[in-house]
Amino acid sequence: MLHWIPLFLSLFLFACGRAPAPAPVAPPTSPSLPAMIVFVSPEFKETEKAGIYAALREWGFALRSHVRITITERYQDASQFIVSLGHWEPEEDGIILGVTSRLYGRMIRLDRTAIETNNLEWRHVMLHEFGHALGADHSFLTLMHPGISWRAPDCIDMETADEVAKAKKWKKGTVHPTCSGAAP
Ligand SMILES: [Zn+2]
Repeated sequence: MLHWIPLFLSLFLFACGRAPAPAPVAPPTSPSLPAMIVFVSPEFKETEKAGIYAALREWGFALRSHVRITITERYQDASQFIVSLGHWEPEEDGIILGVTSRLYGRMIRLDRTAIETNNLEWRHVMLHEFGHALGADHSFLTLMHPGISWRAPDCIDMETADEVAKAKKWKKGTVHPTCSGAAP
């Protein structure tokens, strides 16, 4: 879950208008790697999809030693990950931008109204939620910071990469961060 206004960090809400980091180009793919299939609902608008795809490309770069991310809009492709629209009423401690459920498969739902109203980046919200879908929990001052702010990097940092590796039982250091500018 990604909140826009963290209860205790409202001070950090400035700087959300900074320039987005350039998205990495399509990751190097190896047909021998297992596919990680992500269904992105056709209900998203093209501009929204562009942000979602950019986040998935970035994760694809990070995960390139283990899997290749494949995006589909065909539900029947039996995806392991499902990305669709959702909506929540604002809560006391902030506005919910997206929610990832790990109970039944990996469902990511993104709130268009919350994202648009706050003029946030689809890419950043998706980058964070996909981190949850891969097994990372909230962690301060990383991509997995509970609220988007200048303290939450809009790239895959080392700590988040290591958390995903741990969750997946992969060797430490085999999920590649993108914050270092190493992404192509
Ligand atoms: Zn979250």
